[in-house]
Amino acid sequence: MSQKETEPKSTESANKKTPFFYVKKAIFRIETARKITQFCCFLLLNAVVFGLGPWPVILPIIGTLGTPTKTVLEAFGTLQWMLFELLIPFLALASIFLIAVVVSRSLCGWVCPFGFVQDLLVYVKKVHTQVSPRTHKSMIKVKYLVLAVTLFVSGTLAISLASGMGQSYKAALGEDFARAPFNALSPADTLFAVLPRIVLEARFGIPALMETSEALGTVANGILSAPLLLWARLAVMIGIIVLAVYIPRSWCRYLCPNGALMGLLGHFSFLGLKRDPVKCTKVGCRLCVEACPMLVPILDLPWEKFNDPECIYCLKCVEACSTKAIRPKFP
Ligand code: SF4
Ligand code: SF4
Repeated sequence: MSQKETEPKSTESANKKTPFFYVKKAIFRIETARKITQFCCFLLLNAVVFGLGPWPVILPIIGTLGTPTKTVLEAFGTLQWMLFELLIPFLALASIFLIAVVVSRSLCGWVCPFGFVQDLLVYVKKVHTQVSPRTHKSMIKVKYLVLAVTLFVSGTLAISLASGMGQSYKAALGEDFARAPFNALSPADTLFAVLPRIVLEARFGIPALMETSEALGTVANGILSAPLLLWARLAVMIGIIVLAVYIPRSWCRYLCPNGALMGLLGHFSFLGLKRDPVKCTKVGCRLCVEACPMLVPILDLPWEKFNDPECIYCLKCVEACSTKAIRPKFP
């Protein structure tokens, strides 16, 4: 009898979890490691601010093209710029092909600064908008359209400039669009390059203006006379940020041409995921599918190895699986 009475107590104390248990659990999570990596990469990519770099590195991520405050170049922007300069974009293409074949879209999940911003925006709302599978299936094609239009404009401009007949085409596009059609409206360029420049100019310019008698009029004129492209850039950036608050990684899922290109090439990647069919309970579980920010239909893909073009290798599915059925596979 007395033994029976003591049993629940010992079980209770064994199950009692100290704050240290929860801290340890939080630290040794893949998601914690990913967030730390993303944050460190974010600092490294902008390390010019701290006097480091620039380094001769080109990465297939979405950063900025038109600012000196970056340590590495973004491949897709460099590709457009080299075509504009009538250079064969060997280096940009080599970076895209090499990284896609070795690690697929994992830079999207672990390095890209705009991906990181979207991952942080997820915390603004607790409940997110669910996109129906049908809408999702149609919408993921949009990023391939963005990719095709960008390459078409850059390619045709390069050919016409090389043949000596492209000056009017270039003038019609305008300097920014001609140099890099995607980056001219890229929300990452606006967020990381254009917006800080505006803030800095305002920080130093407005106090000086306020000392003059026509200060307010001058500021108002300055705002009103801002180029249309600037307003368009700001509108696109705000729209994308608001969308990312409601739909996790919506830019990456539906609009990013770099993600589209890496996803296409990622089909041939050494890196993939595998799902152990013995450990996977599948029916009535779906924890991995629900954890996936990119809506990858994990349970419908081959269990031996899958490298879906939408997968950004965030490994949230690996962490979500209670039976540890999902694992990265290389090669
Ligand atoms: S899809 Fe584009 S924005 Fe998203 S993480 Fe990849 S490169 Fe960055
Ligand atoms: S399938 Fe897994 S690793 Fe790939 S995006 Fe979805 S949760 Fe992340």
